[in-house]
Amino acid sequence: EPGGLLGPVAIRDLAQRLDVRPTKTLGQNFLHDANTIRRIVRTADLTPDDVVLEVGPGLGSLTLGLLGASAHVTAVEIDPRLADQLPHTVADRAPELADRLTVVTADALRVTELPGPPPTALVANLPYNVAVPVLLHLLELLPSLRTALVLVQAEVADRLAAGPGTPAYGVPSVKAAWYADVRRAGNVPRPVFWPVPNVDSGLVALTRRPHPPGDRAATFAVVDAAFATRRKGLRAALARWAGSPAAAEQRLRAAGIDPTTRGEQLSVEQFARLAATEPAGG
Ligand code: SAM
Repeated sequence: EPGGLLGPVAIRDLAQRLDVRPTKTLGQNFLHDANTIRRIVRTADLTPDDVVLEVGPGLGSLTLGLLGASAHVTAVEIDPRLADQLPHTVADRAPELADRLTVVTADALRVTELPGPPPTALVANLPYNVAVPVLLHLLELLPSLRTALVLVQAEVADRLAAGPGTPAYGVPSVKAAWYADVRRAGNVPRPVFWPVPNVDSGLVALTRRPHPPGDRAATFAVVDAAFATRRKGLRAALARWAGSPAAAEQRLRAAGIDPTTRGEQLSVEQFARLAATEPAGG
């Protein structure tokens, strides 16, 4: 492949040499299509000053593309065999870019700090079973992240980008919208992965909001409560959160929200306003 990108043959060779059998539990589906890599890198819209955080570099397909389009890539990989190999792969395929790479062997859900310069952009083909928690954890941990482009299960991509009142709207949509403007950025066909996954995949692009709407913890608490009992109106769904149905109704009215509305109808701004109302008796 031109540009040192990994194609299908190189991916299988590398996996065989490392004796890596991709595991489902770690969501190991590796990209082996240079056109897809180029498309993801283009969509990420990086500048030469960007410091990229990549979660789950795997065999390095996307990493190689990202190194060429940014100042630095910090790659967090949970699988030590893959993490240990990555610098060698880069040294083999793109030696001139090797000093731009920092590899961290860690669970992205548990990292609390990263070595190297603060990342400005998250770009990742995320492990699908933990995609939403990883994304939210990193947006919270790293205020330096201005943008994110993540490849996730198509259904999850739809959920992340959904707006109020649409069928896919739920907790991930509201929480992602607290941090960022979120949009779908296309789909990625199954055959570009090895092994071929049994779900469709899609890209989601996030741009951090300079002014998030209100207190995060308080907003997330009311969001979790509102969606815990999906079919109830908010007066009932928020009874425990507020202390009683009457207290819930009072706070909903104080926020200008009809108490018979359901959580699926509210924007993140409305949830934040609701979270900011005075608790009953307070
Ligand atoms: N970026 C590579 C690509 O596109 O070919 C691999 C993507 S694969 C979908 C997900 C990668 O995330 C795997 O390499 C897997 O080992 C790694 N991974 C899984 N869970 C992780 C976690 N909690 N923290 C960091 N990496 C993880």
